Amino acid sequence: MLKGKVAIVTGSTSGIGLGIAIELARLGADIVLNGLGDAKDIEETRSGIQRDHGVRVIYDNADMSKGDSVRELITATVETFRRVDILVNNAGIQFTAPVDEFPVAKWDAILAINLSAAFHGIAAAVPQMKRQGWGRIINIASAHGLVASPHKVAYVAAKHGVVGLTKVIGLETAGSGVTCNAVCPGWVRTPLVEKQIGDIAAEKHISQEDATKELLAEKQPSLQFVSPAQLGGTVAFLCSPAADQITGTAISVDGGWTAR
Ligand code: NAD
Repeated sequence: MLKGKVAIVTGSTSGIGLGIAIELARLGADIVLNGLGDAKDIEETRSGIQRDHGVRVIYDNADMSKGDSVRELITATVETFRRVDILVNNAGIQFTAPVDEFPVAKWDAILAINLSAAFHGIAAAVPQMKRQGWGRIINIASAHGLVASPHKVAYVAAKHGVVGLTKVIGLETAGSGVTCNAVCPGWVRTPLVEKQIGDIAAEKHISQEDATKELLAEKQPSLQFVSPAQLGGTVAFLCSPAADQITGTAISVDGGWTAR
């Protein structure tokens, strides 16, 4: 389905981004991996996806906290592949604290990586996608792009920003063959959430298992985690012809979180 297409997935060395990169590779797209991590592990991931799916996979270490680096990631991709078809803005970080204790540096970092990186990537990619007459921009927002929770002021502000950004880009690209949508996952068991499970366990003096149950019970009516592979499937759907007229919207994949 995606043979000949080139997909950039930011923050794809781990978790959701990796699940999305694998699914797009499985469908035949060439992949630009990005994210932090151990060089040897990243090379194993890169060569593994290339071998398993017979597509070209390259790694770019662009730092998503720096606007210039994000823009260079797009430029470098176009130089290497002569095109960019799919941009998945997925890199993200989390930090929790009440607003009056929230470190300014954490606010700045979360806004930069979770929101501004998507702006810079989109700004650099849209002209190329419009020239091609086809493009898919998919922003990984969150249930926290639609509703709030305490102690997540920067994350919730950034993710609501991502949903707003998505609407504007949907309007600016309408009819051009380019679409822009947000995906809003509920809880997905990745390193980002493992840390929050650990925090609950420590705070309440309960086991990891009980903390996991509490985390799900508080927000996610299905009481089941969303998987990175399922989110890969959602992104693949948004890249399919069935989704040609879906733009500027947010799709929840959250086990019912935002239904109540
Ligand atoms: P994760 O920690 O497993 O992965 C985050 C990825 O972002 C990693 O590849 C990491 O290296 C990369 N990254 C972090 N800082 C970076 C930087 N400065 N430059 C480049 N890459 C950087 O987390 P995840 O849970 O897979 O999260 C992926 C996205 O999904 C995030 O935007 C997150 O907010 C969102 N999300 C996660 C959940 C969840 O429950 N896990 C729910 C909703 C939304």
